[in-house]
Amino acid sequence: MAHPKILEVIEHDVCTACGACVSTCPAGAIVMNKRAEIRDPDNLELYVKGAAPNVCEGCLTCARLCPVIDGYVEDEFANVKEFFAAKSAIKGQDGGVTSILAKTLLETGTVDCIVGIARDDQWGTELILMTKPEDVDQTTGTKYTYDSVLSALREPFEKYDKIGVIGVPCQAHGARLIFENASDKIVVIIGLLCMESFHHDVMTEKIIPEVMGLKLEDVVKMNFNKGKFWNYTKDGQEHSVKIADVAHYARNPCHHCCDYTSVFADISLGSVGAPEGWNSVFIRTEEGRKIFDLVKDKVEIMEDPKPGLDMVKKLAQMKHDNNKKHYLEVCEEFTFDECGFH
Ligand SMILES: Cc1cc2nc3c(=O)[nH]c(=O)nc-3n(C[C@H](O)[C@H](O)[C@H](O)COP(=O)(O)OP(=O)(O)OC[C@H]3O[C@@H](n4cnc5c(N)ncnc54)[C@H](O)[C@@H]3O)c2cc1C
Ligand code: SF4
Ligand code: SF4
Ligand code: SF4
Repeated sequence: MAHPKILEVIEHDVCTACGACVSTCPAGAIVMNKRAEIRDPDNLELYVKGAAPNVCEGCLTCARLCPVIDGYVEDEFANVKEFFAAKSAIKGQDGGVTSILAKTLLETGTVDCIVGIARDDQWGTELILMTKPEDVDQTTGTKYTYDSVLSALREPFEKYDKIGVIGVPCQAHGARLIFENASDKIVVIIGLLCMESFHHDVMTEKIIPEVMGLKLEDVVKMNFNKGKFWNYTKDGQEHSVKIADVAHYARNPCHHCCDYTSVFADISLGSVGAPEGWNSVFIRTEEGRKIFDLVKDKVEIMEDPKPGLDMVKKLAQMKHDNNKKHYLEVCEEFTFDECGFH
């Protein structure tokens, strides 16, 4: 059995599958399915999907670093020290700033390794431990299906001293809690903006073939932008549907999540707020400022980008308005009272 608090998170289907508990449990009592799917709540015996309990030693570590138990921050922008737009020469999802940062962190020895996500031509995700700058090339581009980035940290914790994490807000949050409670080996946290993510099966068997009317192997890029979900295909065509047509298929924990901009990262990166082809960049810690200085001469910077921070704030508010009530309702059902807003 895992710690009872973690079990409650899983049983209420709000486990984000971040993997923080998986990589840090000293007993190896919590495991994650390959696709980071939440296990079937009607079958508590078969933990084949998502975090799962086995043999607990009662050390309480997992309960201290679960982002769902830790709760959310009311004002996502209170710790933003700098906001601007940037783009690199790398062909990434947006401005490729995530990739140039990752390459530079590895080149300069600022980190020994970074955990990120690659994909195959069927959009299946693979967790990648990058140890060389060229490894970063495998990870460019956004996969809107979820994979459990932090569960890949178990081995690096044994082998390396300086670890970087790139992930969506729940993963940046879990990484920060690991740093504060379990291992100071996480020296850089790069967070992405994230409104929602999807289970692999839902994306590949429902959304792409049925909602978009496309063959998965023809899709070369996916993007959420300007109220639409865009698919770009091999033949150079663009296809789109309204975000409202796909948003309800998002994973259940995403409907309870109140972090849009990776509050707990050193640097957050997104597309919203910046012009097309650029990244919106949020420096949140002194470490984040130092790290961005490493790439300043490798990127173009736009100091006052349009549509700007107000657009990001509007979408963050929308996420909170949509999800806060759901999250607080689940908190009410938990037998412990740590979770909530702070
Ligand atoms: C699920 C998801 C939802 C997002 N929603 C928004 C949004 O609503 N608004 C917004 O402005 N931006 C959003 N983003 C961020 C945006 O899509 C880009 O990732 C960001 O702008 C960085 O672009 P880049 O060109 O620097 O990335 P690149 O240089 O192309 O690097 C991509 C990086 O993303 C990582 N990555 C890819 N897929 C995943 C994943 N599923 N989980 C964790 N890490 C991953 C890779 O490891 C790689 O390091 C989202 C990202 C994800 C993963
Ligand atoms: S309380 Fe400790 S031993 Fe038990 S599941 Fe959590 S981390 Fe593992
Ligand atoms: S730490 Fe992450 S994976 Fe573990 S129960 Fe909490 S949300 Fe789920
Ligand atoms: S919406 Fe929240 S829970 Fe879902 S993937 Fe994004 S950060 Fe994680």
